[in-house]
Amino acid sequence: MRCLLPALYLLAFAAAGQQYDTVISRGRVIDPETKLDAVRDIGVRDGRIAAISETALEGRQVVNARGLVVSPGFIDLHQHGQTPENYAFKARDGVTTALEMEVGVSPVDSWYRAREGKSLINFGATVGHIPVRMAVMHDSGTFLPRDRAVDSTATSEQLSAVIDLLRQGLDEGALGIGMGVAYVPGATREEIFRVFQLAAARKTPVYVHLRSSGPIEPGGIDALQEVMSNAAASGASLHVVHITSTELRLTPIALDMLHSAARHNLDFTTEAYPYTAGMTDISSAIFSEGWQARNGGISYSDLTWAATGERLTAESFARYRKQGGMVAIHSIPEEMVRIAMADPDVIVASDGILDHGKGHPRAAGTYARVLGKYVREEHVLSLMDAVRKMSLLPAQRLNLSTKGRLQPGADADIVIFDPERVTDRATFENPAQYSEGIPYVMVHGIWVVRDSQIQDNVFPGRGIRRGQ
Ligand SMILES: [Zn+2]
Repeated sequence: MRCLLPALYLLAFAAAGQQYDTVISRGRVIDPETKLDAVRDIGVRDGRIAAISETALEGRQVVNARGLVVSPGFIDLHQHGQTPENYAFKARDGVTTALEMEVGVSPVDSWYRAREGKSLINFGATVGHIPVRMAVMHDSGTFLPRDRAVDSTATSEQLSAVIDLLRQGLDEGALGIGMGVAYVPGATREEIFRVFQLAAARKTPVYVHLRSSGPIEPGGIDALQEVMSNAAASGASLHVVHITSTELRLTPIALDMLHSAARHNLDFTTEAYPYTAGMTDISSAIFSEGWQARNGGISYSDLTWAATGERLTAESFARYRKQGGMVAIHSIPEEMVRIAMADPDVIVASDGILDHGKGHPRAAGTYARVLGKYVREEHVLSLMDAVRKMSLLPAQRLNLSTKGRLQPGADADIVIFDPERVTDRATFENPAQYSEGIPYVMVHGIWVVRDSQIQDNVFPGRGIRRGQ
């Protein structure tokens, strides 16, 4: 009998020790919804956050986060690259959910099924007006329109077919409707309005790249007014993508208009990436006649060819425009980037895509760049605001109540980073470089990054569909 008591005690201790699958111990826990910013232990069980505690918790596995920040995993509303290569770079940048909301996809169901059970991080998409219009008009482009869907006006039969395919995508669980008016200048004002009407009927937002960019009308403010009035008239929610690259020096006025609308109870939001260059396909309508003036008076040498990094000339521009491929457009004033980063209501989103290591550095470095350059080095925004702009705000845009928060009951999508070291390393010359200072990333309770290494053969990412 004498030895039973210690044995029972040990059993009880062991049972308590099994309480959580994983404990993240003594990290500086930041939750932008409750404004918690304090040292806590987090207990994770069955893929969810089960406890957040001032006192130490016990788990089967304990990660010491002393000196590190623990925050909700970042949610990227604008990630075109939806491949294992891209998901690895997103995870190393702290992203636990990457969504293709601008161009979108079609058909929707097969796109989700191709990724289920095979993805490192969570994924999802809108149904896209661009791919739908390309299918209806038999455009020869792959990602963006190149010919028939660019300048053609839809017949009434084609417009009905476009709306039917969009409706079908929403029925299959798409997260909204994606739209890029600048890529399909042949779409009439009526066609654009009909898409907003469908979104309103289905109570889902339109994520839109405006008609065209810069200070030359129609563009800039005029292009913003078009979608704002369509949204207001139809009752649809509106999200304007990459506000800095379409508004350029008009960014402050555009933000003023969007915030003013929000104050009048219109559900309008916007986003920006922390770089002074955009990127798109050189064969798209973005580079139709007048592109230099529309982009704030830039010239050929403000373009870099993604495949080689070379600056373009009139000769190489003409050659590559026939060929097609990604080109960086160095057109966004740094002052405008800083205004968007400092604005507490502008969501951070990357607009990223890497293809065999080639692309824009934003695909790999957006989130670490905000934390390193704009929070730590330049004090453009607070750490709390940065986390809010990268997790809670996109979760709210998506109506996802269990993401973007570190609270009991939330999904265990968690990023752990070193606020003193976190930095982006991706450059225009070499965009395929992992961010640093983000040693741990968890998706649904499973580590996808551990000791700064991508974990092999784990696929906890889930497809996020509307109405789940
Ligand atoms: Zn765009």
